[in-house]
Amino acid sequence: MELKGNDYYIQGLQVQQLCDEFGTPLYLYDADKIKAQLDKLQEAFGGFPVRFKYAAKALTNISILKLMRHYGLGLDVVSIQEAMLGLKAGYPAKDILYTPNCVSFEEIQMAVEMGVMINIDNISILEQFGHQYGGSVPICIRLNPHIMAGGNTKISTGHIDSKFGISVLQMRHLLRVVKTNGIKVVGLHVHTGSDILDAEVFLRGAQIVFDAAREFEELQFLDFGSGFKVPYRHDDATTDLRQVGSRLKEAVAGFTKDYGREVEIWFEPGKYLVSEAGYLLVRTNVIKTTPATVFAGVDSGMNHLIRPMMYDAYHDMFNLSNPNGIQRVYTVVGYICETDTLGWDRKLNELKEGDIIAIKNAGAYGYSMSSNYNSRFRPAEVLVYEGKAHLIRRRETLDDLLRNQQEVEF
Ligand SMILES: *Cc1c(COP(=O)(O)O)cnc(C)c1O
Repeated sequence: MELKGNDYYIQGLQVQQLCDEFGTPLYLYDADKIKAQLDKLQEAFGGFPVRFKYAAKALTNISILKLMRHYGLGLDVVSIQEAMLGLKAGYPAKDILYTPNCVSFEEIQMAVEMGVMINIDNISILEQFGHQYGGSVPICIRLNPHIMAGGNTKISTGHIDSKFGISVLQMRHLLRVVKTNGIKVVGLHVHTGSDILDAEVFLRGAQIVFDAAREFEELQFLDFGSGFKVPYRHDDATTDLRQVGSRLKEAVAGFTKDYGREVEIWFEPGKYLVSEAGYLLVRTNVIKTTPATVFAGVDSGMNHLIRPMMYDAYHDMFNLSNPNGIQRVYTVVGYICETDTLGWDRKLNELKEGDIIAIKNAGAYGYSMSSNYNSRFRPAEVLVYEGKAHLIRRRETLDDLLRNQQEVEF
């Protein structure tokens, strides 16, 4: 978003006008920002065959999935329903990687029928898979490298207590199951979780995959997952992609020599592509002064953006309606009947009732984690693409709330 004079713009469109047109609360996405992030990834990772699979769960709207396909990406999905959405969005099954955790074998069978690439993350399912399909359906295996990436334990997935992946310490057992059943392993995968800051940590994970890869002869790809950090505060450190890219290039070259041929390198960015592209625009309903603080109560809350309450996530925000006013301290809270703070002690340009607050980094895990708690409608979603605002999901109505409910008369 760009400030010109007293108004904020996205691709030449005045954001305040979009709020008037589509109403608030509103999720607003900027396709140019998504593209810019993708360009950065593509610049950083070169010199070897690389594929990007958009991690659908970050922002699952079908138009976003189609946009990502238009940009040439594949798709990473974590449920059979996301896989269905991917097919509906036009992805060929072979471009969809299905990486579930703790799902039933029936769901795996459905994925086989859909023809998506299946990423298996436990030995029990691997055995059932081998028993049923032998080597007839090529698969990928998700390893747990036991690396503690940055971020908090809720979003970190590669550590020793994590439920994800097959431990690298179980490699011998894994190989026994693979060989005994003749399973065709064409990919190895690690995803250590969000917020990788350090090229070193990333490369340690990569090295474990390279070492494991020597045990498999038919590999077509190695998938390094995601976790590239984006700034949530203006002075936040971010992943030094160029450094990761150039170090990885060396490591891949070494691996290729050892392995005897090239394999593709895959990544599955979610947050990196969409976090900063999205804003949650909310209207200030009430300014309420208490003995402790000044609350700004807005027409949204943890039902629409759960990250602050669930992960203590910090989402920067600003007063869109009064960009040049004096700054004051506010506690910005939602309208849910439960403590739902969106931001403590925020310096915002002076707010009056009716002003729009723009909450940043709302593109990833915003709408996709929203709910109807308190029987509130979920917001509309608007995508700005090539200078035009597209409504990509209408605001809910009472019919949406009641859709699956059965009324019993007493
Ligand atoms: C969630 C997830 C991602 C995306 O993670 P981000 O931090 O949003 O980039 C990638 N791969 C898998 C398997 C995931 O579960």
